[in-house]
Amino acid sequence: MNWITNYVRPRINSIFSRRDVPENLWTKCDECGTMLFHRELSENLNVCNNCGHHMPITPRERFNALFDGGIYTEVPVPEPIVDPLHFRDQKKYPHRIKAAQKATGEKDAMLVAEGEIGRTPIVATAQDFSFMGGSMGMYVGNAIIAAASRTVELKRPLVLFSAAGGARMQEGILSLMQMPRSTVAVEMVKEAGLPYIVVLTHPTTGGVTASYAMLGDIPIAEPNALICFAGPRVIEQTIREKLPEGFQRAEYLLDHGMLDRVTKRQDIKDELITVLRMLMKSPPAVKGDLPPPDPESEASEPSKAEPAESAKE
Ligand SMILES: [Zn+2]
Repeated sequence: MNWITNYVRPRINSIFSRRDVPENLWTKCDECGTMLFHRELSENLNVCNNCGHHMPITPRERFNALFDGGIYTEVPVPEPIVDPLHFRDQKKYPHRIKAAQKATGEKDAMLVAEGEIGRTPIVATAQDFSFMGGSMGMYVGNAIIAAASRTVELKRPLVLFSAAGGARMQEGILSLMQMPRSTVAVEMVKEAGLPYIVVLTHPTTGGVTASYAMLGDIPIAEPNALICFAGPRVIEQTIREKLPEGFQRAEYLLDHGMLDRVTKRQDIKDELITVLRMLMKSPPAVKGDLPPPDPESEASEPSKAEPAESAKE
């Protein structure tokens, strides 16, 4: 044994092994155990291509797939006071927020954006379960109000993707106050006669289910999403009975009239386009890409260009 084997070789190995094996190349499906290649999984919107299990997806990934060409503009959200209660459990609340911001690269658990889907202008907002369990605090309330105000201002439909463990306990009563606040925001959209569609994703629970997540004109859910106020574990412990198979899951709720649709993540965009265009009384969406505009004919004879296009079909 000498310093080369004891010191130099491990150092070299550690430097190279770090480069050779990037951490996130493969993801294991929680449901069927299949190892899924990272790139294929993200192309498939984090849905297992073996068993169809829907894994969590961040708002940004979702918006990239949802909006035409992945193009959208973020709607600014007014930032609330941080930690008004000076809350502390094992960690101080500001430390928890900072750690979540570092891990996710987001300000808080909701992202608001405006853009077009299938050339239908919308405002969309999505909750981020990876940010402190998507919990609804003052920021989330502000985000929903910002989204609703923008919706009314632009006269567009509002689409909300919910995913939350409920209210944010670190903000106490202030987080519970976001239930009536967000309900008023939804009311604003409805009074303006604009559609409000909620896509419930796994899991949508607690105060979120008890407020804005259940107020959609058409509730759509992703397959097998857990949607409830109190979770199955709590209910089982309270009533001391085994709950039926699939209780509080999307398909069960669809069967019992709590939802209108259960739709696979890959089909949600098309479904939203159809539903929103119907509700907005717009003509059906144009499928596929339109032919690129012909600059010559448009400049010289704009009236003749159109009949020629339709004659071809
Ligand atoms: Zn799977």
